[in-house]
Formats: sequence, structure tokens, C-alpha cells
Amino acid sequence: MPQDHETAIPPDPTVPPTPTRSDTRLPIHDSPNQLSSARMKAILIREHGGLDKLTMADVPDPVPRPGEAVVRVRAVALNHLDLWLRRGVAGHTFPLPMIPGSEVAGVIEHVDDPNWRAGDEVIVAPGYSCGHCIACLSGNDPLCRHYGLFGETISGGAAEKIAVPIRNLIRKPAALSFAEAAAFPLDMLTAWHMLIARAQLRIGETVLVHAGGSGVGSAAIQIAKLFGATVYATAGTAGKASRAQALGADATIVYTETDFLDDVRRLTGKRGVDVVFEHVGGETFERSLRALARGGRLVTCGATTRGEATINLRLVFFKLLSILGSTMGSLAELHQIVKLVEQGRLHPVIDRILPLAEVAEGHRILEAREAFGKIVFEV
Ligand SMILES: [Zn+2]
Repeated sequence: MPQDHETAIPPDPTVPPTPTRSDTRLPIHDSPNQLSSARMKAILIREHGGLDKLTMADVPDPVPRPGEAVVRVRAVALNHLDLWLRRGVAGHTFPLPMIPGSEVAGVIEHVDDPNWRAGDEVIVAPGYSCGHCIACLSGNDPLCRHYGLFGETISGGAAEKIAVPIRNLIRKPAALSFAEAAAFPLDMLTAWHMLIARAQLRIGETVLVHAGGSGVGSAAIQIAKLFGATVYATAGTAGKASRAQALGADATIVYTETDFLDDVRRLTGKRGVDVVFEHVGGETFERSLRALARGGRLVTCGATTRGEATINLRLVFFKLLSILGSTMGSLAELHQIVKLVEQGRLHPVIDRILPLAEVAEGHRILEAREAFGKIVFEV
């Protein structure tokens, strides 16, 4: 059985156990109650390092706990998180060994629940939480003290199978391929929560989206347009810029050729933008703040370049700026997003689909910033 874990909430016998940050539940060591000796192929990161650390391993099948389903993975998408997990992050400990993979779509193989059957096609919500604390009940799942992510705090879906809490199952829209279904949950949710919940984007506002060709950037362009904003997107190449424009960006800035701050001032008649969508970090943060109009909001979910930046406090108080942090979003928001994808109002953006055996090539492409949209692996 899984080991007991510290909890602030009295155990509720009606609520299925939830994996926690300290519970890696890796299918590495056969547990005493394991029912089968079946094994599966999985990408297994045993230690941090280069691309050679992405090894295909033979591990025991996941064993579902009460309240969990087993999903046969058909597609799993790549995120910057996978790069952090592989390389390691100074000051952060990942519970290795770990199977990466946060965005999963597949077919239910085993479930004991009246709402689901084996054979149902599903998207797996990438974040999990207890589901019954005040944070969860108020739609602030990432504030739950048990919040975690597949492929970060617990093994993910870069494998033939994954066991997940039943509440993480979302019916896959029939019109989407498995690759499309795996290509958006984490990025769309992250971008949605940043723009809608945190920055409270309003119709008619202006938004600067950094790296419009990234997974989260291509999601942000679409969401900001859906909410009636004017969108300026940066991109590293003219080719990516034109694809960002095709996604809906009103104007694009090739940041390798011009200073995006100059361009934002030109595009807005020196006013600046209402919202900056930040995920680049140290390389852009200071200029992102300067790109804001009075009363503007900078919302950040990441630091793919570096995690340190200098902030001019005078700029923050004189211009009444807000700096907002954001991580993931709620399960409720993800259900909303899936509906909008099903209606064709938001679109998964896929750069390419590779077999899972080519996971290292996927990492290389993402690190080299060669992709526009998501890299998805078929399993
Ligand atoms: Zn909770």
C-alpha cells in the first residue's frame, strides 16, 4: 500500500487517496500488493543530465489505487518542464527516478466508476490535487497543499500506461486526434489562468505575448483574441512571426532583429500594453515591465532563460503596475477550455509528431527553439 503522508486535512473515508508531492509512486519496485507482473515500456529519467539521460526502460505496469483509472497512453506532449526534469534545476529536488510527461491523451484500460468504461477516449488533466480542501473547492487547485503535476511531482505519461485519479479524466472530443488532445491541456490551462484569472484581461485591451511560437505563447495568442484583445506577439524568426499572425496576432515582433520594447512603443503610440504575458524570464523581464502602460499587469508563469531579474521599483509604483505570478490553473478551467477546443474556438498547435522512442530529438528541437507549437510523441 502507499505510505501514509502528512496531511492537514482529517482523512475522509469517502474521498479516494490523492498522490502527494512526496509520493512518487513509481512503478519501479514491485509493491507487495501488485496484482500482475506485467511490464511496460517507459522513458525513465534516473539522473539529471544531457539527452543521454532519456532512456527507454522496462518497468512494472502502474497499479491503480482506489479512485484511480489506468489509461493506455496514445500521445504525450513535450513541455519545458520535461527539460527542467531532465537537466535538473538548482535548488529544486525532483523525486528521481521518474517517468516524464505531463500532457497525456489515451484510452481507459481499467476503471471502476459508473461514469467511465474501458475503451473511453480521454484527456488526462495534468495537475492533481486533493479535491476537497478550501483551495480546491474554490477553484484554486494550484493552491492546494497536495497540488502536483504528472511528470514533475509524480511519474507522468511518457509510457505505455499511467494510473491517474478518476477526477483527472476528461472525455476527449471525438473530432480531435490523440496527438491534438495531448497538445493543449497544460499550455492552454496555463495561458488561460494567466490571462483570464490572474491578469483579468478585458475586451479592447492590448497584450504583448512573448514567444508566440511556443506552446504556451501560441495558446495565449488565441485566448487573448477570443477575449477581444489586441495582441502583439514576439517570435525568434520571420517564419514563426507569420505563423503567430496566422493564429490571430495583430502584429508581430521578430525579437532577434529588433528590440521588442521599441516595437511595443511604436505599435502603441508610446502608451505601452495593458498586459505582458511573460514566460521568458531574466532575458526579457525588465523590458517587459517597461513595456507596460500605466496600470498595466505583467503576468508570469516561467523563466525559460533565467530566474533572476532586476525590478525598478519606481517604475512599479509610479505607473501603478502589477506583477502577477501564475502556475497552472483549475480543473474547472480545463473543462471550459476543452469545450472551447471542441467548438473549434481554440486550436491545439502542433509542430510535429514523433514516436516516443525519439524523445531525445524532441528535447533537442525544443531546446534549440526550432519548434512552432507543440512536439507530441505517439506511444
Ligand atoms: Zn485541495
